[in-house]
Amino acid sequence: MALTIGVDIGGTKIAAGVVDPEGRILRHAKAPTPRGDGELLAEAVAGLVRELRESDREPPTAVGIGTAGFVDEARSRIVLAGNLGLSDDPVRERIARRTDLPVVVENDANAAAWAEVRFGAGRGCRDAVVVTLGTGVGGALIVDGELRRGRFGAAGEIGHYRMVPFGRRCACGNQGCWEQYASGSALVAEARALAAAEPVSAARLLEAAGGDPEGIEGPEVTRAAREGDPAALRCFAAVGEWVGQGLADLAAILDPECFVVGGGVSAAGEILLKPAREAYARAVTGKATRRLADVRPAELGGEAGIIGAADLALR
Ligand SMILES: [Zn+2]
Repeated sequence: MALTIGVDIGGTKIAAGVVDPEGRILRHAKAPTPRGDGELLAEAVAGLVRELRESDREPPTAVGIGTAGFVDEARSRIVLAGNLGLSDDPVRERIARRTDLPVVVENDANAAAWAEVRFGAGRGCRDAVVVTLGTGVGGALIVDGELRRGRFGAAGEIGHYRMVPFGRRCACGNQGCWEQYASGSALVAEARALAAAEPVSAARLLEAAGGDPEGIEGPEVTRAAREGDPAALRCFAAVGEWVGQGLADLAAILDPECFVVGGGVSAAGEILLKPAREAYARAVTGKATRRLADVRPAELGGEAGIIGAADLALR
């Protein structure tokens, strides 16, 4: 049985694990992320790899890295990772030199999406789109069984496709990006705007925020919606509508078999997915005749990055 090590490098911590070919994590290790120094980052990753190798009777044969930020087309360098304070960093070479193992580097969203398609909600789908609804919207495209990286490594940035020309401003510098309407930030903006405009109907949300609309946060909106609060449910319906509209556009281009929806906002489950599915079915082109892709919740949660990176290293 070939074991590999998957490493998920995030803005605050590095999580690693020994993973078997069935996508099971056999052992875990983690460390804080050193920021702004590629050598220190590689040393921290190599330390975790050493720790995991020592505890194994059968030594892992390769290391897969899923990292925040853009990874170049050769899957070798971090082009830019604002969260890690790194740019143009030769991460693969630094880690390979320290571990003496083959190293594969991938963007973290791509690695997590790969895990969902191999072992999670998208199992068996050769054409899938994985959508991660967090503070922003991330994603990855699996086409004909392969992860699409694009010519320069930046494919699948679906959060920044321009849904509304001249729409809301986005941190990327453009306007009207999908993530301005379909993310956790959008959910919070919706709830704050609703509470400011209709304080009576939003009483429950306001109460939890000490009476200040600007104090409303995402987890509280989710909690209120789960308990049936009509104002919170309206916020999810609005964001779900935008999610579904975006899925319809993606279906027009990619015609996937399934959409896998994960990330913090998707913790609300059907409260979000039901309006998203309905909007998708209403908006998709050829709806009278075409087969609709499934819209499924992600299954692997926070460990998808480790599992996906390890499986990519196996290949
Ligand atoms: Zn953008």
